[in-house]
Amino acid sequence: MRGKNRQTDYSVALAGNPNVGKSTIFNALTGLNRHTGNWTGKTVDCGFGIAKIGGKLFKLTDLPGTYSLNSFSEEERIAKDFLLNNNPDCVIITLNSNAIERNLSFALEVLALKKNAVVCLNLSDEAEKNGISIDSKKLSDLLGVPVIKTSAVKKDSLKKLKSVMREACEKSGHSESANDLDTAPSTDTRVLHILSRQICEKCVTKSDKRRVDERTARLDKILTSKATGIPIMLALFALLFWITAIGANYPSELLGTFFDFIKQKLYDLFELMNAPGFLTGILIDGIYTTLSWVVSVMLPPMAIFFPLFSLIEDSGYLPRIAFNLDKAYNKSGVHGKQSLTMAMGLGCNACGVTGCRIIESPKERLIAVLTNNIMPCNGRLPILIAIITIFFTGTAAGLLGSVKTALILLLVIVICVLITLLVSKVLSVCLKKESASGFLLELPPYRKPQFRKTLVRSILDRTIFVLGRAAAVAAPAGAVIWLFANIYIGDSSILKHCTDFFEPFGSFIGLDGVIVMAFILGFPANETVIPIMIMAYSASGVMSDFTSYSELSAMLSANNWSAITAVCMIIMTILHFPCSTTCLTIKKETGSLRQTLLSMLIPTALGIILCAITANIMRMFL
Ligand code: GDP
Repeated sequence: MRGKNRQTDYSVALAGNPNVGKSTIFNALTGLNRHTGNWTGKTVDCGFGIAKIGGKLFKLTDLPGTYSLNSFSEEERIAKDFLLNNNPDCVIITLNSNAIERNLSFALEVLALKKNAVVCLNLSDEAEKNGISIDSKKLSDLLGVPVIKTSAVKKDSLKKLKSVMREACEKSGHSESANDLDTAPSTDTRVLHILSRQICEKCVTKSDKRRVDERTARLDKILTSKATGIPIMLALFALLFWITAIGANYPSELLGTFFDFIKQKLYDLFELMNAPGFLTGILIDGIYTTLSWVVSVMLPPMAIFFPLFSLIEDSGYLPRIAFNLDKAYNKSGVHGKQSLTMAMGLGCNACGVTGCRIIESPKERLIAVLTNNIMPCNGRLPILIAIITIFFTGTAAGLLGSVKTALILLLVIVICVLITLLVSKVLSVCLKKESASGFLLELPPYRKPQFRKTLVRSILDRTIFVLGRAAAVAAPAGAVIWLFANIYIGDSSILKHCTDFFEPFGSFIGLDGVIVMAFILGFPANETVIPIMIMAYSASGVMSDFTSYSELSAMLSANNWSAITAVCMIIMTILHFPCSTTCLTIKKETGSLRQTLLSMLIPTALGIILCAITANIMRMFL
């Protein structure tokens, strides 16, 4: 991350319970865009950044949220290890002012370990609305460290924190307790709770008004009730998919037209320069055309889906999904938190796999890792939208058509969830018996999403980053595929030899040799699957120009695609090996090659079996 290796004057760590505003403070101090969100467990690794305050450089480390220094989950261990092994000049212990008593236990643990600290009473705006008043002066006297009230989402709220943090760092060199302990204190949790309560009795007063809590309770009556919870959740996702499908359509076409126009100009330019055919082929027909597909078809849905999803995340709704689905997950022998990691998988499976650290039981965590790829990531959602639009909605179906696309996509996602639960159940029976994690899922208060920050973060951080990564893979992939399609062995190109080889297997499972080949070559990034297919279908090895789904539709029909091919393509898009980035992440998270191979084998085998069954049943009727 930016600034990680720069020479700095001081190092500061941000520690605290999950969801208390650490990343929001970190972003405000460093100007970075670290992932924030209103739910417990979204920060599972350390974030690094640099803040310049009063001419001095501070290296800030945003630690994963932790309830206690003696806790078990992976991300909590990371936070504990950092505090023990690195000796930051100052720790900003961030507390939720609404839940001060519980948060104080953690503060006391850290203070036993590290005296040079500043206590930050964040979310003080919410506490005020809830009628909670904290005497920060008295608290500071009792704890023996500065205590500052902040509302991290408000501009200028962190001024005081900055100056106090600076003073604390400057003092750290002279502090007798700078090196403190080198093991975590083993103070009995119960004693800490008693101490926290005693401190709170001295400095916290509460009135009857609890506006934020009451609003949350009112909303939860509807959003988590047995009767309305799941229908509202489905409706919300349908709306999300509908906005994505309809919103992406027009920009996609515009971008497609624009890229075709530039492509024509590039051809003219290359001709003018007498460029050899090989160069024109590899640069324009290979690299440029693949890249323009990735940008015109991937960018619009991503740029719509990510920000909308981030707003939902920021509102505090995600943990309610986990809550609503917890029973179904428990029946499958896994933890409700797995639904959170699956929701993250909708954005990117590599993030979903890393997010599995929030699940404490190793067995449940492994199951979540092995099945995360069943949720289609942003690289696969546009493939699904394209196939659904072309084969089941009709490219000219307009507004009503987009509603149909959204509903079919929702059905596909529901099926993905059901398959995940089924596979999880089988895995939980097959894997070694082990005690389940306790259900500790915090339901945070609903919060008004930070529109501007969320939009900037999701567009800059997620969309551009993910797109950049896809483009970085698509460009060389385009060149390689062009070479495959244009280097001949005997009468046929290498690509044709390969697709002919896979043809019998492909048609048995309702696909064809080209599609099978496209999935294999698309291993580095799913975004390249369709461009590879298009290039392979073009007899000349050149990707045909198309600016809309209708032209893609014409090309697929010309290559004998039917409803059977479309259904099997959808199944295979959901159920095949994870992309290379996700595989590397799985290897990193599990430390096991065997489990990584298993994560590839399970969905691929399932996909092949399901495709074969579906294709052969459909053939009997169509
Ligand atoms: P972390 O898990 O501790 O890093 O917490 P985040 O920084 O991700 O913040 C959790 C949620 O609280 C996000 O939705 C933030 O927008 C919101 N938030 C953070 N600080 C404040 C604050 O002082 N006031 C209010 N109202 N919301 C806050």
